[in-house]
Parts: sequence; C-alpha cells; structure tokens
Amino acid sequence: MTALDLLDLDPSLTEEERQIRDVVRRLVDDRVRPHVADWYEEGRVPARELAREFGKLGLLGMHLSGYGCAGASAVAYGLACQELEAADSGVRSLVSVQGSLAMYAIWRFGSEEQKQRWLPPMATGEAIGCFGLTEPDHGSDPASMATRARRDGDDWVLTGGKMWITNAPIADVAVIWARTDDGVRGFAVPMDTPGVTAREIRRKMSLRASLTGEIVLDDVRLPADAQLPEAVGLKAPLSCLTEARHGIVWGAVGAARDCLETTLAYATTRTQFGRPLAGFQLTQAKLADMAVELVKAQLLALHLGRLADAGRLRPEQVSVGKLNNVREALAIARQCRTILGANGVSGEYPVLRHANNLESVLTYEGTSEIHQLIIGQRLTGLSAFA
Ligand SMILES: Cc1cc2nc3c(=O)[nH]c(=O)nc-3n(C[C@H](O)[C@H](O)[C@H](O)COP(=O)(O)OP(=O)(O)OC[C@H]3O[C@@H](n4cnc5c(N)ncnc54)[C@H](O)[C@@H]3O)c2cc1C
Repeated sequence: MTALDLLDLDPSLTEEERQIRDVVRRLVDDRVRPHVADWYEEGRVPARELAREFGKLGLLGMHLSGYGCAGASAVAYGLACQELEAADSGVRSLVSVQGSLAMYAIWRFGSEEQKQRWLPPMATGEAIGCFGLTEPDHGSDPASMATRARRDGDDWVLTGGKMWITNAPIADVAVIWARTDDGVRGFAVPMDTPGVTAREIRRKMSLRASLTGEIVLDDVRLPADAQLPEAVGLKAPLSCLTEARHGIVWGAVGAARDCLETTLAYATTRTQFGRPLAGFQLTQAKLADMAVELVKAQLLALHLGRLADAGRLRPEQVSVGKLNNVREALAIARQCRTILGANGVSGEYPVLRHANNLESVLTYEGTSEIHQLIIGQRLTGLSAFA
C-alpha cells in the first residue's frame, strides 16, 4: 500500500476483501476517473450505463443475498464504496441509493412477488431505483411527512411530493414513504404510473455527477400489492438509512484518501522558494494531521464493518462513523485545497470537487447535527430533537 497506510491496515483485510477492493479500483480507474471531471462540470452522468457496468461486477445490492445479489460481507461492500467515492461521491451515491436504500427496502420489507419483480433487474442495473423520504418541507424530521396514502377499495391512492431524491430522474421504481391512517408505510411505485412525475433538480453546486430530482405524486393509484407488507412505521425507512450510512462511513474515507494522495504527489513536485512544498514544516504539519485523521477514519470504518458482519452494529454506532468520517473527510479536502494553491480550485484536480461533494454527504443521510443528537441521546438518555 501507499505511504498513507501509516498503521499497516492492509493486512487487516482478508485476501478476498483486498481482491474485491482492487477489482473495484480498477473499474473506477478505467471507467470513471478519466471522465468524471467532465461529468461534474456538465452536471451530467451516464448513470444507466454505469449501473449496468457496476451490475456486471455485482456491486448493486452487493451485501444482499439471493435474487441475483452478490451476498458479499459488509466490509467488502464498504471497501467498494470507498473505491467508488475515491473517484466521486456522486458515483458512490448511485450505488448506495440503488443497493442500500431502494433494493434493501424491497429485500427487507417487500413481498416475495415484489422481490422477484424488482431485485434481479436492479442487481444487473437494468432497472434503477430511488428512495423517497425527504419532502420539500420535511427533511431532518421525516415523522412530519405530508405525503399521504389512502385506501380506495383495495387500491392505494398516493398524494404528495418528495424532494432531493437521488436517481429520481432516471428511476424505474421509487420506494415511497407515505403516511396512512395506521402510520408510515412504504410503497414500490413504478415511475411510469399515471400521476407520477419526476423533475431534475439543476444548478447543484455539489454532487454534480449524480442525478437528483423532485417527485410529484398526484392521486397516484396503486394496487394493494404495491405496499411493502413488512414495513411498519418510521423505523422501516430509518433502518434503510442505517444501511446506507454504513456505506457512507467508508465512502468518505475514499474521498479523503484521494485528496491526500493527490496533495502528496503535488506537494512533493511543486517547488517554491527553491524547495518542494512538502519540505516546508507548515506543509508537513498539515499533511501529518490529515494522514492521522485519515487513518483514524479508516480504523473506524473497518471496526464498524466488522461489527456489521458480526450482526452487532447499532444505529448510533453508525452515527459515530457518519459524523466523524464525513466531517473529517470534508476538513481534509478543504485543507488539501490550500496546499494546491490556485490549482486547488481547478477541475483538473479532484480536490475541490471532493470538497463540494462532501457538502452534500454532510447533509444527506442525517445531517451532522442529527447524528450529534442521536449520539447525545445515547449518552444522556434524553431526546433533544424537538
Ligand atoms: C444531493 C442530495 C441528495 C439527496 N438524496 C436523497 C434521497 O435519495 N432520498 C431522500 O429521501 N433524501 C435525499 N436527500 C435529502 C437529505 O436527506 C436531506 O436534505 C437531509 O435529511 C436534511 O434535510 P433538509 O435539507 O430538509 O434540512 P433541514 O431538516 O431543514 O435542516 C436544516 C438545518 O437545520 C438543522 N436541524 C434540523 N433539525 C434540527 C434539530 N432538531 N436540532 C438541531 N439542528 C437541526 C440541520 O442539521 C441542518 O443543519 C438528498 C440531499 C441532497 C443534498
């Protein structure tokens, strides 16, 4: 491994885990890195094409079993997220939303028929999924959601809207969370159902290589079997978020590592005042502090991954990882940018792109403040949410 593996973590991975990581790294080097700066600048990404390639490699719903999914370990999935996000957080988001949110919801809460219908094509990337929890007026507080599902005979009728939904503009199916007379329930909604419209959200300054949309549900009539039968209450979507947050804990490490690798290479070759930038004590202090934070984040990700594989990972532990790793990755990206000087703001280098992306990652899947509140509640036994 590189000089950045200060604690010799590489041998803590199994041979199989290292192989999976290296295969994903090669795919990313080949198919994503050469193009991602352009996708980012243009605010476009060939998401369907990428999904099929990721599907071929078994990356979609990778940690799920059956229905064409790879049945890999949580650590292997985490390593895949790390390599994907080392290229771009938006590309990792495509995989996270497909596998950990949309597919996981159907796999965990769906009927056998729903699983047979949706999971195999989603695992190959033929079908794209999205996950609609956030609404224009309800983000951190999904319990207040306004989207309603009411019974009409055997059918369900959905009304409302979802906002900031990754993959929505190209999705074939949306997992939509709505309030019913019996509390929150989930629905697998084919996006071509009459009354469903998706509009792309443009002018994002972050996660530009990811498609984000608004979904409007205008009296959308669904058969009874569109409801996910095992999803009862808000804890169902929250359990999906725990899955996805685990991937983010690893992904953020990838973005930070890419920033630091880029910066080390830059600082050792760029000369000012007759010596490489890396030779100045002030630069080395920055590099050392960032490398220490990176390795701590890696250790945390690996520990949480091992807990997940042992079936012992608790939601507030994932909050520790999400809060720390995204916050530190963002700090690393911003600090790296200073070392690159003017080149730090150029799209020729990945550093500011990562920093801008991490602003979204800091906000979605629970903001930093929400994770602080989750950890605070665990520490004190007191809920300070409202
Ligand atoms: C690029 C992108 C992609 C996304 N993809 C998806 C997706 O696929 N599916 C989906 O459902 N959602 C998605 N989201 C939405 C995301 O999950 C929400 O933006 C997030 O939950 C925060 O909600 P909000 O933006 O409404 O902010 P708000 O909830 O309005 O919060 C604004 C600020 O207030 C703070 N705050 C809120 N409540 C409290 C409190 N009790 N105490 C202290 N501070 C508080 C927050 O931490 C934040 O700093 C995406 C967002 C982005 C940016």
